[in-house]
Amino acid sequence: DKVGKRGGAKPPIDRYVFMLNAVDDGYGGLEHRHSTALICNRRDLPQLGMKKAADGYVTLLGLISHEYFHTWNVKRLRPAEFARYDYGRENYTKLLWFFEGFTSYYDDLLLRRAGLIDDAAYLRLVNKTINQVQQTPGRQVQSVADASFDAWVKYYRQDEQTPNGTVSYYTKGALVALCLDLKLRAEGRGSLDDAMRHLWSASGGGPVSEADIAAALEAAGGRSYAAELAAWVHSTAELPLSELLRLHGVATLDDPSQPAQTLGLRVAESGGSVQVKVVLRGGAAEKAGFAAGDEWIGIELPAAGRKSAQGWRIGRLDDLALYLGAGKRCTALVARDRKLVKLPLVLPTGVTTWRLLAQDTGRVSKWLAPAAIAATKA
Ligand SMILES: [Zn+2]
Repeated sequence: DKVGKRGGAKPPIDRYVFMLNAVDDGYGGLEHRHSTALICNRRDLPQLGMKKAADGYVTLLGLISHEYFHTWNVKRLRPAEFARYDYGRENYTKLLWFFEGFTSYYDDLLLRRAGLIDDAAYLRLVNKTINQVQQTPGRQVQSVADASFDAWVKYYRQDEQTPNGTVSYYTKGALVALCLDLKLRAEGRGSLDDAMRHLWSASGGGPVSEADIAAALEAAGGRSYAAELAAWVHSTAELPLSELLRLHGVATLDDPSQPAQTLGLRVAESGGSVQVKVVLRGGAAEKAGFAAGDEWIGIELPAAGRKSAQGWRIGRLDDLALYLGAGKRCTALVARDRKLVKLPLVLPTGVTTWRLLAQDTGRVSKWLAPAAIAATKA
C-alpha cells in the first residue's frame, strides 16, 4: 500500500463498499480491506424530513465510521502478531486496546469533525463511554492489555461475571486514546493525530509493536509516554479523565445514579418482571446476597408503626422509589431456582454518575473543531 505524501491523507484504497443489512433487530460490523459488512436496526435509519440525527442514527454512523477507520487501523496497521493472520485458530495480541480502542476513539471524533454531530452531542458520546467503564468493576481487576490478551476466553465468551473480572478493550482503550490526545494537546507539541501519522509513516502502513506505538507518541509529543502507557494500559489505576478534561474546558459533575447503578445490578425488565443479569462486585445488591438469574419479585417494608410488614410486587426497578420513598431498608423477595428467598437490602446513599459539561466552550471547540486537523503538522 502506498503511503501518501502527508502520511496517509489519501486513502489506501481506490474503491470501498459499505454493505449495510437493515434488519428488525441486530447490530454489528466487520471490517475488510476494501469493504465492511454491517447490520443495523431498520428503525435506526434516518427518517424522511429528519432535521437532526436521532440517537439511533448517530450510533449507526459511529459503527460505519468505526469499520471504515479499520481500513487504516487493523487492516493495514496491525499487530505484529497478526502479520500472517491464521483464520483457523485463535490469534493472541496484547494490542487490542490500540487497534479496537483507538479506532473506537476516532469513530465518534470523526463524526464531530465531519460536522455530523455538534460538540454537545460528541461530549454525550464520550460521557457514555466513561460511564460504561466506570460501571465495570473489572477495570480494577484486569489491565486493558491483559483484557486484550484474554479476548478469546473472556470478551468472546461473556457470562454474568464478565463485568466483574475484565474490562472492555474497546471502551477503556478509547479512554486511553482520549487521555493521550488530551495530554498531548495540553503539552502543546502535537496531538494523537500526529502520533497516528508518525506510526503510519514509520511502519509503511504495516505490522506494528507496542514499542512502535510508544515511539510514535514520543515523536508527536517530544518526550517519552512510557509512564502513561504503564499506568493507563498495563495497570488498573484509574485514568486521570477529570483533570485532563478540565484542561480542555470540560467539567465532570456528579449526578445521582439510576436505580440499577445505585444497587450495583444489571437487569432485564420485561412483562412486569425484573430479571437479574449481573450482580456488580462491591455493590449493595451483592451485599444483600443477590445472584445472577434471580427474578426480583417484590419488597417487604419494615413494620415501623404498622401492625405488620407491608409488601409490594415490583415490575421495574423504578418501582422501588415509589414504594420505599425516603426509606433505605427493605427485604427483597426473589425467586431462585423456583425457591422464594428473602434478602436484607440496604440502599446506599451518594452513588453518583458523571455528567460532562462544556464549561469553556472556546477550549472545547479548540479541541474538537474540524479546523484543528488542518492546523496540526503532518
Ligand atoms: Zn473494531
